[in-house]
Amino acid sequence: MSKLPLSVPPILGETAVSLASRVAQANLISLREFLRDMGIKSEDLIAGQQHTIERLAELSGVSVAELLRATPRVVDGDAWFAGIRFPSASVGGWQVRGCLDCIDAQLGLRGIWSLPFVTICPEHNRPLVTLWTVQDKLERYDIVERWPELERTAQTRPEMRDPSPFELWFLGRLEGNDACDHWLDQFDLHASAQFCFELGRAAIATKLPKWRSLPDNQQWWPADVGYRLCSGRGEALRAALTELQHLMGQPEEGPRKIFGGLYDLLAVDPTPKALLPFREILRRQILETWPLAPGDEVLAETVLRRGRMSQRAAARLMQVPEADVLAATASDGRSPPGWTLIDTAEARTMFGHGLAEPEFQKGLSLLPHQFAQARDAGLFQPTAGGLWDAWAAQDLIDELLTGAEPIYVVMHDWRSLGEPLAGCR
Ligand SMILES: [Zn+2]
Repeated sequence: MSKLPLSVPPILGETAVSLASRVAQANLISLREFLRDMGIKSEDLIAGQQHTIERLAELSGVSVAELLRATPRVVDGDAWFAGIRFPSASVGGWQVRGCLDCIDAQLGLRGIWSLPFVTICPEHNRPLVTLWTVQDKLERYDIVERWPELERTAQTRPEMRDPSPFELWFLGRLEGNDACDHWLDQFDLHASAQFCFELGRAAIATKLPKWRSLPDNQQWWPADVGYRLCSGRGEALRAALTELQHLMGQPEEGPRKIFGGLYDLLAVDPTPKALLPFREILRRQILETWPLAPGDEVLAETVLRRGRMSQRAAARLMQVPEADVLAATASDGRSPPGWTLIDTAEARTMFGHGLAEPEFQKGLSLLPHQFAQARDAGLFQPTAGGLWDAWAAQDLIDELLTGAEPIYVVMHDWRSLGEPLAGCR
């Protein structure tokens, strides 16, 4: 069968199923009956399958290319729109969103409204609203049936506002317009938006403890805050992360507490491929700015090497006043101010002296019998003048901890290592 005698004028950006709803109405039957009569499977049409779209195009006289462009196409857990991939679970859903001004002008659902992070209509500067929430997939997109119901509920129209820089960038990427020329353009669009959103949420949490209760009309805000923090490319982003650490707390609180949802997003194992560049940025930041040791874990990955340590830990290990370590440490601006960290390598050079037996035991929190056992087993390195090398002993402990499973109640507490140390003989 070719074009139906009764069709409808095309609407730019309208999804195939919304068009089918209108064509059905023009032919005075329900959407479900229309699809059945025309041999179109509703789930295939909703999923944007090419053969159903070709069939609908033939029946309605609307261009295949236009329908394909406007309808998200779901394949193997991915949803494609404008050549850009989204996780299919993030597209659509029970809630159907849209711009009330667009619908007033032309009754149809635009495919772009079903995408995550699309929160405004740039044509009308109108924030999108949830039009309705319907469980049945076909009924959900049956605009002709749903729209009169909505009018009865007197949907309030959100106030107009200018699209945020994030929104302009996001919509621009969907249109293949790279006028923003942003550092994020090199990465997957959805992953970049997730990163912006979580980064923004973490940043907002430093100023506004009740960020969770952001009202509907401010839901666009976190992604924009994150987007702006990313504007200065890699280096500025790292400075922003350091600033977040500074505002959010102390190193003892750990990266999970400070970065919150951003950490959780990137700690998923296995991390989705598109998020790997962002995971690497956060991981490098954490490794370079936190006092971490073998036995700790960063983004679900074990730490293998001691990078930085707290000045207190260095002072304790070498049994020197903390003020001496502080005086010897030049602030390099990498860690947040007040975190008082020192590079382990730097500390070794500056405080490389050996320790006499009592200080050595104290520095490593060893009980006398533990010390005696390990010493007799030849595990500790003597230095000149009958002293002991505390750094070498710490390396030994770190080695024992490599591959150890982290526990979250007690961090690397050296006291608990007496037993494995004794077992090294
Ligand atoms: Zn609109």
